[in-house]
Amino acid sequence: VEQYLTRIDEYNHLNAFTEVYASEARQQADIIDQKIASGTAGRLAGMVIGIKDVLSYAGHGVRAGSKILGNFTAQFTATAVQRLLDEDVIIIGRQNCDEFAMGSSNENSAFGPVLNADDTSRVPGGSSGGSAVAVQAGLCLASIGSDTGGSVRQPAAFCGIVGLKPTYGRISRWGLIAYASSFDCIGPIANTVHDAALLLEIMAGPDEFDSTVSSQPVSSYTQTTLPNRPLRIAYLRDGVESAGVDQSVREATQTKIDALKNAGHTVDPVDISLLKYLLPTYYILTTAEASSNLSRFDGVRYGYRSVSTDASVMDLLSLYKKSRTEGFGAEVRKRILLGTFVLSASYYDAYYTKAQQVRRLIRQETERLFEQYDFLLSPTTPTSAFRLGEKTGRSAEDNPLQMYLADIFTVQANVVGYPAISVPNGTDDTGLPIGLQLMGPPFAEGALVALAKSL
Ligand code: GLN
Repeated sequence: VEQYLTRIDEYNHLNAFTEVYASEARQQADIIDQKIASGTAGRLAGMVIGIKDVLSYAGHGVRAGSKILGNFTAQFTATAVQRLLDEDVIIIGRQNCDEFAMGSSNENSAFGPVLNADDTSRVPGGSSGGSAVAVQAGLCLASIGSDTGGSVRQPAAFCGIVGLKPTYGRISRWGLIAYASSFDCIGPIANTVHDAALLLEIMAGPDEFDSTVSSQPVSSYTQTTLPNRPLRIAYLRDGVESAGVDQSVREATQTKIDALKNAGHTVDPVDISLLKYLLPTYYILTTAEASSNLSRFDGVRYGYRSVSTDASVMDLLSLYKKSRTEGFGAEVRKRILLGTFVLSASYYDAYYTKAQQVRRLIRQETERLFEQYDFLLSPTTPTSAFRLGEKTGRSAEDNPLQMYLADIFTVQANVVGYPAISVPNGTDDTGLPIGLQLMGPPFAEGALVALAKSL
């Protein structure tokens, strides 16, 4: 704990933590020392982790990277977090993230951007940017993030570490501040596949507080081995051929494909015919769900409330409007507007219903693919970490959709609810990390972890 606290101080400029629980972590360490001495310590005794600022931890602040929660304090602890605490994990602090987990660069946080520890002029990825950098810079051993469209895997790739998004419903969402409920997954970020698997194993499983959580038994993901036969692995042709993917990323991916072939596995290129509809489907459905989820932040129930100097204009509606206008950042306001638009009476069928239909088609196509293959491989992201400010859509040569493209390979897993993992796959010519993504069929986390370890 002391070692991490010293490093957190030393690397304060990275802005990875929004709050550090120094004295609490020290106390916890003492308690765990005693438990170790008496032989009663849990499986995670001594593991020092951080949690993304979207996870509730009773008695501690939770802000979702936003101003709108004000000084809100969590009233209860997220199931996933509680299960880790029950195994004697030490939580060292709360980690910076994009506001309401919306973003791919951690530049949308009300608490300022997080910097990539490998090159501080670059982004760490998002939205779990603080969680990834904290592991990258050795400020904690592992982090717990959330992944709605890539937010655990993409920052893990940009920071050269491991990020695991489980099957939808594998980990209870109770206590996770909702962004898009039918996509949201809690997931671990760690230095090794083994640590990520262990954290998943402990967080996963049935929970009466989340009706979408699966009752499938949790197997020991750290112990699972691969079937004793050559694997059938598909890889996305675009990931190694598309001009939209950096050459260094294409080459690194190709190298892994060749290695798998040499190891005797069947490795075939595939095309996802609906690839170009992935991002539109994702952004229509997630903004719709977000507009509904975020309606609870009205300036009355939680945190921030606008204080008007002119009491006469402060009727209830203007209180809502002013509080939400001032409390939410630009990206969140944009998505609430988009989501409200696609759900509005005149456009519901054209956008929301249509996107639901396309989601089903993408799912069916993915299911068919997995009838033939055990895994789907691709780069995690088309590029390595980009520069701060490069894709914010605020400069003349830039358009706001550039940022969304950073998620082109990660969103499919969330659209269909399948598990996926990002593992480090070397660096580009400038020494920046590259990530490799593996996706597996639902509840095949054990096999996914086993293959990821072998890579
Ligand atoms: N970058 C994607 C978005 O902005 C994914 C975010 C996430 O997974 N939370 O929506």
